[in-house]
Amino acid sequence: VERGGRPHLPEIEAVLLDIDGVLRIGDDAVPGAVEAVKQLRSADLALRFVTNTTSQPSRRITEELERLGFEPGPEAVVTPAGLAIKRCRELGHGRVMLLMNEAVKEDFGELQETEDEADAVIVGDLGEEFSYEILNRAFRAVIDGAALIALQKNRYWLKPNGLSLDVGPFVAALEYATEKEADVVGKPAPSFFELALDGLDVEPGQAAMVGDDIESDVGGALEAGIPGILVRTGKYREDAAEASSVEPTATVDSIADVPALLRSEPRSSSG
Ligand SMILES: [Mg+2]
Repeated sequence: VERGGRPHLPEIEAVLLDIDGVLRIGDDAVPGAVEAVKQLRSADLALRFVTNTTSQPSRRITEELERLGFEPGPEAVVTPAGLAIKRCRELGHGRVMLLMNEAVKEDFGELQETEDEADAVIVGDLGEEFSYEILNRAFRAVIDGAALIALQKNRYWLKPNGLSLDVGPFVAALEYATEKEADVVGKPAPSFFELALDGLDVEPGQAAMVGDDIESDVGGALEAGIPGILVRTGKYREDAAEASSVEPTATVDSIADVPALLRSEPRSSSG
């Protein structure tokens, strides 16, 4: 199934699973995904659900995964919010401007939200609510010296009604206007993948990342020393994969093919 023959992945002890486009599309599980996750678990692989999704707080993402049957453990969902808070703590950013929907703000409870004299502007997902006025407020804060932190910088994602602008284009607009580079804390930042492996007691080479985004998921993982598996579901596009300089460790049709890839049972078919 995978390009370039069967990759050598015998030492894998932990799997990082992207959520959107890999396990679910919109409100529905990807066919075979629930069963595949069960197989990975029963093969004694530690699992982390890693997502750049910034439209929901961690609690809601966990509940959604439970509803679909993925049974995530309490600490298993990793989002960029955790790394953003860590970064603010380290740099002493106590007052922050939050560009994200109200629900997601619960993940930032330990920081003080402000519209004036912010230490940092944190850009998450406002979807269709991104407006000139909101971007202009953020622009002025950054020009006045606030740090610019982006929860992610994905170009686009697959909504049920088609490919749609993600947070990245709005982050890029602020960077262009301010001539400052955002500190991007979500995938593909290597520190995000390090945070995901926190507490798992595995080396990066003993983990594998499964994603539908060749740059953020696969490229980011490889950069952090983690093998990257690309699935042909979600936002996957053959032309984008071929145009990319990123060479996935393996490419498979869907998450349903991953258990056989990671455990050495004989495979019944190929190609
Ligand atoms: Mg995805």
